[in-house]
Amino acid sequence: SNRIMLGPLVAAIDQGTSSTRFLVFNAKTAELLSHHQVEIKQSFPKEGWVEEDPKEILQSVYECMDRTCEKLTQLNIDISNIKAIGVTNQRETTLVWDKETGEPLYNAIVWLDLRTQSTVERLINKTPGRNKNHLKTGLPISTYFSAVKLRWLMDNVEKVHEAVLSHRAMFGTVDSWLIWCLTGGKKGGVHCTDVTNASRTMLFNIHTMDWDPELCKYFDIPMEILPKVRSSSEIYGLMVSCLGDQSAALVGQMCFKDGQAKNTYGTGCFLLKNVGTKPVMSDHGLLTTVAYKLGRDKPACYALEGSVAIAGAVVRWLKDNLGIIQTSTELEELAADVGTSYGCYFVPAFSGLYAPYWEPSARGIICGLTQFTNRSHLAFAALEAVCFQTREILDAMNQDSGIHLSQLQVDGGMTSNRLLMQLQADILCIPVVKPSMPETTALGAAMAAGAAEGVSVWSLTPEDLTEVTSEKFEPQINPEESELRYARWKKAVQRAMNWET
Ligand code: ADP
Repeated sequence: SNRIMLGPLVAAIDQGTSSTRFLVFNAKTAELLSHHQVEIKQSFPKEGWVEEDPKEILQSVYECMDRTCEKLTQLNIDISNIKAIGVTNQRETTLVWDKETGEPLYNAIVWLDLRTQSTVERLINKTPGRNKNHLKTGLPISTYFSAVKLRWLMDNVEKVHEAVLSHRAMFGTVDSWLIWCLTGGKKGGVHCTDVTNASRTMLFNIHTMDWDPELCKYFDIPMEILPKVRSSSEIYGLMVSCLGDQSAALVGQMCFKDGQAKNTYGTGCFLLKNVGTKPVMSDHGLLTTVAYKLGRDKPACYALEGSVAIAGAVVRWLKDNLGIIQTSTELEELAADVGTSYGCYFVPAFSGLYAPYWEPSARGIICGLTQFTNRSHLAFAALEAVCFQTREILDAMNQDSGIHLSQLQVDGGMTSNRLLMQLQADILCIPVVKPSMPETTALGAAMAAGAAEGVSVWSLTPEDLTEVTSEKFEPQINPEESELRYARWKKAVQRAMNWET
């Protein structure tokens, strides 16, 4: 047949909170050739609990791989040219499985989950402020990170407790689960993770770049259940390379230089700034995290991160819980109908508030309602909430470094919403720049896989990287109006923080 000759191809599995994707890129041009996406179910068994099914996650990966390969074959592209597959994933989400049966021992506890709130409050009281643990991990104690979720599983799920005692338990974030299954599972799968995912567990020392025995003791976690920690760009078996989704987006946006930053709008919203090869601690509520380590002998690069728990998730909430839209794309039109929230402010603190507040007891609030308020205003307020939360993170970052970003590079599922992008530029008072190829997270994972030693079909040296085409949104409202709205937002946040007292 007429096979198209394209040279080496590199693929990425992108396992996000709301969906799974498999994507295939041309390693020479970074062009996206084909992809497939499958939505993932989330369950909310109790108030504040968020779970996903590990088997469904795995199945969705197989389905996406199969369908993408079928599409490539239809395009006359030879799938045997795929030289490497990288993994990128929702971070922190915690799984435990039995290495002998290969069976998950409980659902995956999703990063947004709040069931560990009382444990976290107890630990914070025991070791308040920026203590030794915080300096080692770069993270405050929070429900967000894996260690407390793993602790909960060991304390509350009999099967997990037994498997740990009988040395059959394996812990992992979603990357480890997928890599273990895809490299053979119970018949000798590779139990590993990469430095970026490890740096989100609260068990990893970002200075020594390894699991920390003292931290494991603090959370009382046996080290034998932990995966081996590898660099983000090397061959692990049939899989090559792995990067937490936010790290992958940083790589996919080519933010390799100190000071470069990107903001990704998915289920949550994550602004990461590359700070170079030495970790920098924040004085304004940001996290210090491992950005990437692109090869066993390459240096680790660190990032300052501002994490927002609820961004796209508020859109899903308006759709699934309130039913005021049928699809997430309808939100833009609904909000554009009015073009203002008419004084309504919506703080979607469904999972407490993350950066810069780290307040697990905060809860969502909608205020400023009048007889006049309708669903369009509410839709607009939801979009504005995403922009205000980003503004808070950017302010913290600017204060930490004393250097102001002159524009913001963005990506993620929500960036297809043009009204949101314009609002963001208005609220930040700086231009917002969006690449025309939106799948930057997968691109970053594919780049790391293609550049791994032994694959070497993709170069990460800046001169060799393809120029990305992008679209720019310039601020259109005056800064005074922007400040006024931002000040009101901050008042609403204070109400969300103290609503119970
Ligand atoms: P994740 O990586 O967390 O799975 P994605 O980057 O795939 O997330 O983005 C999906 C999120 O973006 C969903 O929460 C969805 O509600 C939201 N979203 C998608 N399209 C739009 C849109 N046009 N307007 C607003 N939100 C959107």
